[in-house]
Amino acid sequence: MDDTIFDKIIRKEIPAKIAYEDNKFIAINDVNPQAPLHLLIIPKENIPTLNDASDSHKQLLGEMLLLAKNLAKHFGVDEKGYRLVLNVNDDGGQTVFHLHLHLLGGREFGWPPG
Ligand code: AMP
Repeated sequence: MDDTIFDKIIRKEIPAKIAYEDNKFIAINDVNPQAPLHLLIIPKENIPTLNDASDSHKQLLGEMLLLAKNLAKHFGVDEKGYRLVLNVNDDGGQTVFHLHLHLLGGREFGWPPG
């Protein structure tokens, strides 16, 4: 299985600003933030892309969304709103091949995205 920068962060081999951690997830501040709040919610299990997820990941994927909602509330962006982004493969803009959910908040986002 490919070892990514997120695997190294999970193993604390390289530093990151950790916003939240439990036995299944770590949430870190994106090193290149696109909004005042830009967290990456990363399951510790290495699923390279959403394409690699299966029925066995149903609970984990549900928990990831609920964690995003809880972190949005914790960081005070739930009422005004926020955006969740999950990039898949090259055309989707994925650069780190360890599944992660972007939580962006603190500014207004347009639609459709540029
Ligand atoms: P994606 O393009 O969806 O794969 O998102 C990968 C994200 O990881 C990008 O927004 C990067 O800025 C971010 N990133 C890459 N390396 C690090 C790192 N060491 N710490 C925090 N965020 C990172």
